[in-house]
Amino acid sequence: MEFSSKLIEKAVNEMSQLPGIGKRTALRLVLHLLKQPKEHTGFLAQALVTMREEIRYCTTCHNISDFETCEICKNPNRNHQIVCVVEDIRDVMAIENTGQFRGIYHVLGGKISPIDGIGPSQLHISTLVEKVKLGTVNEIIFALSSTMEGDTTNFYIYKQIATASIVVSTIARGIAVGDELEYADEVTLGRSILHRVPFENSFKNN
Ligand SMILES: [Zn+2]
Repeated sequence: MEFSSKLIEKAVNEMSQLPGIGKRTALRLVLHLLKQPKEHTGFLAQALVTMREEIRYCTTCHNISDFETCEICKNPNRNHQIVCVVEDIRDVMAIENTGQFRGIYHVLGGKISPIDGIGPSQLHISTLVEKVKLGTVNEIIFALSSTMEGDTTNFYIYKQIATASIVVSTIARGIAVGDELEYADEVTLGRSILHRVPFENSFKNN
């Protein structure tokens, strides 16, 4: 791509470093910003710089937060004895959006993946094990993605906390609401059979 301006070229190059943004999209965004009042670009740039400099991670659950302790961990109305283990902040947001969970979270920051060179020590596993050993937790819910890496991570953590007398559960896997059975893949269908629930539970809220 040939640019008539080095300034545009630099902006496009920076923008195209973002995931899912190619050079053409980056150019479109840059030209869009040029058409907007100058202060719009200022607000955008300032929001990004402030976000990058001031963002923190909750010291209790490792969720992204504006403060040392996140709003969820700070909330006395949440059940602090039930901990939902997730990979990252997007999972926290997804579960929060359901409005069905009143416990707290523990964000691992990824999952064990030897192929990608990610071992247990690079994840926030030890702080979770410590929490369980302190005896403040009654139940752990694994809500990791249903992949080999997710299963490996669940099992690794489970082995370390199995001696504690707490309930350890995993979110149900299976057929999505509205899915036709014949189109489900074998693994999903197989898990749906394995993790079947009493029929009464299928129409009760809890
Ligand atoms: Zn927190």
